[in-house]
Amino acid sequence: MLIDLHCHTAPRSSCSDLAPRELIELARQRGLGAICLTEHDTWWPEDEIAALRAEAGFPVFHGVELTTDMGHILAFGLPPPVAPLATARNVFDHAAAHGGVLFLAHPARDGLLKVTAETVTYFASVEALNGSDSRLQNMAATGLAKGFRLPGIGGSDAHTADEVGRTATSFDVPVHDQAELLAALHAGSYQAVTLE
Ligand SMILES: [Zn+2]
Ligand SMILES: [Zn+2]
Repeated sequence: MLIDLHCHTAPRSSCSDLAPRELIELARQRGLGAICLTEHDTWWPEDEIAALRAEAGFPVFHGVELTTDMGHILAFGLPPPVAPLATARNVFDHAAAHGGVLFLAHPARDGLLKVTAETVTYFASVEALNGSDSRLQNMAATGLAKGFRLPGIGGSDAHTADEVGRTATSFDVPVHDQAELLAALHAGSYQAVTLE
């Protein structure tokens, strides 16, 4: 089952031109089985995700892409924090408290250079394939993922229609809801894939 784990929509991500409904239709047309909304530093409320899913008749999950001192972090299974998560250390503590899982986003773009021997342990793995990165950056990121305890994930980082589903994560098991997504991520039962 193919899931694009890294998508941005307007207006929650101000840099995106994609409305959530448009993103869902494109994902369906391109053969994805689900999408995961990862807005910048913004959580989707559960009731709004549920409404989108019901209206579209398509599985819609959510994570978040957090801006930190270590670069961008793709986080899954984290509830909205009480206070802003300004540092990777804060994000790690919050994830540990709630059973979340963290991936360093597009590590070959810039984030990797800020990660130290201690802080690298915050991450289960990296985003091995990012649809907005170059082939060379993705080759580097795919190599990096081999050093982590979980496989690297794949996502388009879509901000426009053309980008949806360029890369995705192929799950070995069906993923029906948010809890199953988190369980499959923790289990490492997936691979990053390029779809074009
Ligand atoms: Zn990013
Ligand atoms: Zn992004």
